[in-house]
Amino acid sequence: MTASLTAVTDALLGLYRRAPMEFVRGAGVHLYDTEGTAYLDFTSGIAVNALGYDDPGVKRAIIEAAETGVIHTSNLYRTAPGEQLAEKLVRASFADRVFFCNSGAEANEGAFKMARKWGRMVGGVAKHEIISLRGAFHGRLFGTVAATDRPQYRNPFRPLAGGIHLDELREVISAERTCAVIVEPIQGEGGVRVIEAAFLKALRELTKERNVLLILDEIQCGYGRTGTVFAYEQVGIEPDLLTIAKPMAAGLPMGAVLLTEAVAQAMQPGDHGTTFGGGPFVAHVANHVFDRISDPALLEHVRAMEHAMCELLAGVQRRSPKVRAVRGRGLMWGVDVTDPAKDVVARALDQKLLLVGAGDHTIRLLPPLVIGRDDLAKGIEQFEAAIG
Ligand code: PLP
Repeated sequence: MTASLTAVTDALLGLYRRAPMEFVRGAGVHLYDTEGTAYLDFTSGIAVNALGYDDPGVKRAIIEAAETGVIHTSNLYRTAPGEQLAEKLVRASFADRVFFCNSGAEANEGAFKMARKWGRMVGGVAKHEIISLRGAFHGRLFGTVAATDRPQYRNPFRPLAGGIHLDELREVISAERTCAVIVEPIQGEGGVRVIEAAFLKALRELTKERNVLLILDEIQCGYGRTGTVFAYEQVGIEPDLLTIAKPMAAGLPMGAVLLTEAVAQAMQPGDHGTTFGGGPFVAHVANHVFDRISDPALLEHVRAMEHAMCELLAGVQRRSPKVRAVRGRGLMWGVDVTDPAKDVVARALDQKLLLVGAGDHTIRLLPPLVIGRDDLAKGIEQFEAAIG
């Protein structure tokens, strides 16, 4: 166990404006600081800790995985947990194949390469462009930041990766030049914007018509967060590729690309890879997480909490003139407030509630999927107090 922190270190690269408290313990939907003060978590480590903290099943899976003595072998050799998880994901989705990696951005970068290779196979080198939507967030690596609609993330790194565009779709989707369109069914960082089912259906039609791949980024909104394993299930469309990451291994780093056989045909050994992806330790834990988040009882619970959240937030909106709009699905909600979001987040911290913003005036609510009705109500009460 490492010693508790005293002074703030300047050894870490200063990329994050971190809150001052230091968390040393977690249980259920609470984190505890060095003083033993409990903080109710409406952030889940930004949509990662779907099963909350100190979950006995997760703990058991971690111990089982450690007890094999095989944390890592590299992808030179076969190991069972990754193969088993891939089979589960294929059975539960549109996909025929799965590629494992270590984060969300890495999953999207992988999906971009797969789309490019497929484009080359079906249409030659010209068919290489990837299009993302206004408001999108797909990650901070070179390809993904080019597909992310935040000037402050993009501009300091120009020139960005070529052939990746943020645009108005109908005009730019070209059968000759476009290989893929990438969309978050619910934009997370972009302000919890639920993309309408009708839009997604029309996009699916258009991409099919023009022989363009549809990539769904469910890194934040997928894996049970909206009350179904995948968010696309509620829309009634199927993508060609889908990326997931955050909650996959209960906080251990993991990501994945799910893809159809038609896209997989374009990829040959050596076309892509990663040292750690799908290793036996992380994949063993991820098997446990998948079994839990695909349990109909948990999904039913998320849908019940969606109703509770909807009612509670409607009450807040009725009472508070500082709330401009409320939107969301499942346990992923965005609330537009008149004050700067960072002020509301800071005041919530005083109430011992953890929140995260999504833009200058939007608060994101992402509690663990296992949250109960009482904690949900308590959190919303603290949130209302923080709104002021
Ligand atoms: N895509 C979406 C929709 C995300 O919300 C995120 C992270 O917030 C990413 C991609 C990037 O994931 P990571 O931070 O694991 O690279």
